Amino acid sequence: MGLFEGKTALIFGVANDRSIAWGIAQALHREGCELAFSYGAPPLEKRVRPLAESVGAKLVEECDVGDDAAIERLFKKVQETYGTIDVLVHSIAFADRRDLQGRFVDTSRDGFKMALDISAFSLVALTRAAEPLMTNGGSILTLTYYGSVKVAPQYNVMGVAKAALESCVRYLASDLGSKGIRVNAISAGPIKTLAAAGVAGFKKILTYSEQASPLRTLVTIEDVGNTALWLLSDWSRGVTGEIVYVDAGWNIMGLTVPLEHLDEMK
Ligand code: NAP
Repeated sequence: MGLFEGKTALIFGVANDRSIAWGIAQALHREGCELAFSYGAPPLEKRVRPLAESVGAKLVEECDVGDDAAIERLFKKVQETYGTIDVLVHSIAFADRRDLQGRFVDTSRDGFKMALDISAFSLVALTRAAEPLMTNGGSILTLTYYGSVKVAPQYNVMGVAKAALESCVRYLASDLGSKGIRVNAISAGPIKTLAAAGVAGFKKILTYSEQASPLRTLVTIEDVGNTALWLLSDWSRGVTGEIVYVDAGWNIMGLTVPLEHLDEMK
């Protein structure tokens, strides 16, 4: 019997089979979870629907998380289809490509608002909508990156949005803990996905992370999916408001130059 037998998860953020949310969905499916999917924009349906159908999803619906009415419509359908849910996965981020290059100081007001709205506030909006459906308690998970804590080249406004997101995780965890609803984040190392391709110089970040992290490897969507299983299941029932790193250990390093390269430096 799977760990998630009899449970239902609503997953936001599958764009294709490279998406981190897809790694999480596959892990939940393996453990017997019923899955529902929401995608951001109509052109994505042709990629998301076959994936969703391959894991037997009954509900695959569009929802732009920047639109309150769309969120309301979606959760009404989720309630009609499933009644209650146990798991919410928020694997969404967006910033204008122009703000993911050059200097952070040049971020526009609109670019700042957009990044914070879609990448951080949306967790608050989705959690608020999910709360009445989590009558048996639940577990909510979002995805973040270390650029929230330290400056990562070109990550710019997204680093600020992720800092806000991580703070949202703590406040939401505090609000909802008494209802048995837990809220946590996974801070993943760099993974080649659609969203990541928007960050200038991402290929170099991949190479560098692989060479300088303690495990000398890149993490995969399967690695994130497996840690997500723990955070979304009762195995972590004493854990809420936490940021769990799945980054091959990168965040523990004080000196992030591959040791092998130190001798080559003048
Ligand atoms: P991805 O496959 O491109 O997923 C990003 C998702 O965000 C897409 O499904 C996209 O859907 C959705 N999205 C964007 N704007 C939206 C909106 N207004 N409404 C609804 N959905 C929207 O890339 P990913 O790397 O898996 O990203 C998932 C999460 O992991 C993000 O929060 C990202 O910051 C985080 N993360 C990624 C990495 C990495 O290196 N890849 C590392 C750490 C954390 P549409 O395309 O339909 O808009």
